[in-house]
Amino acid sequence: MKKALWLGLIALSLWGVEGFNGKSTLLILPSPSGTMVLADRNISVVPHPTHPTKGLAIIPIDYEAPLGERKLTWVNPAGTVEMNVMVKQGVYPTETLTVEPSKVTPPPEALARIASEKAQAEAIFAHVTPTRYWDKPFIRPLDSAITSVYGAARLYNGTLKNYHSGVDLRARTPIPILAVNDGVVVLTQERYYCGNTIIIDHGEGMYTSYLHLSRFDVHVGDRVRRGQPIALSGATGRVNAPHLHFGMTVQGIKSDPLDLITQINTLFTKEPQ
Ligand SMILES: [Zn+2]
Repeated sequence: MKKALWLGLIALSLWGVEGFNGKSTLLILPSPSGTMVLADRNISVVPHPTHPTKGLAIIPIDYEAPLGERKLTWVNPAGTVEMNVMVKQGVYPTETLTVEPSKVTPPPEALARIASEKAQAEAIFAHVTPTRYWDKPFIRPLDSAITSVYGAARLYNGTLKNYHSGVDLRARTPIPILAVNDGVVVLTQERYYCGNTIIIDHGEGMYTSYLHLSRFDVHVGDRVRRGQPIALSGATGRVNAPHLHFGMTVQGIKSDPLDLITQINTLFTKEPQ
């Protein structure tokens, strides 16, 4: 291993890494090889999008992850490097929503459907396609105001149900929804909670989701390009107003999508150290 490489590694392991629950930590590494191991999760180190001799590890930290210091290990052909990641609490609001009671406490006949849709989504997100389909910065799926941020703790009809796993963008009338980057459509389906849903695989374990749509303009298996209209927004599923719910899943974990897009896009404008 080259001297500069070792110096970089020593710096990383001494300084440690900071992260926040619900967000992804991006690490630039001296080589695009090996695997990052965080708890029981293995994350491939992939080439940096503009400096492919450098490595990139996108490490998602679960919203419900315990806070505090955790060990992160880079297992690569030249050896093993240990560092620490300090997981801190992200700043997230609390929201109160009023929706149709059947969508908060679903009727018994809907439970099997809900469970099967959850398992189906988990199976999709667990799959890591080794190809990276994108080579440009990400865009937003529509140019509109944010009506609910990622990470909001949610009280539905007075009961704490979950946290908001994506971002909501205003879309009062049906408007075209754009693919945020190149990828392959892996799901177009009407779902109990999410309504009409599209999932795009961007490769390397990264997926984007588009919910509550009123119309699909793509099919499963389609290769889509950044900026391509894929659907019309709508109000299907568990909603109290028409909007787009947009989510990003990395290595099976739902990460703050706009924060992740900002971090990835910075790779295109900032020289890696
Ligand atoms: Zn939402």
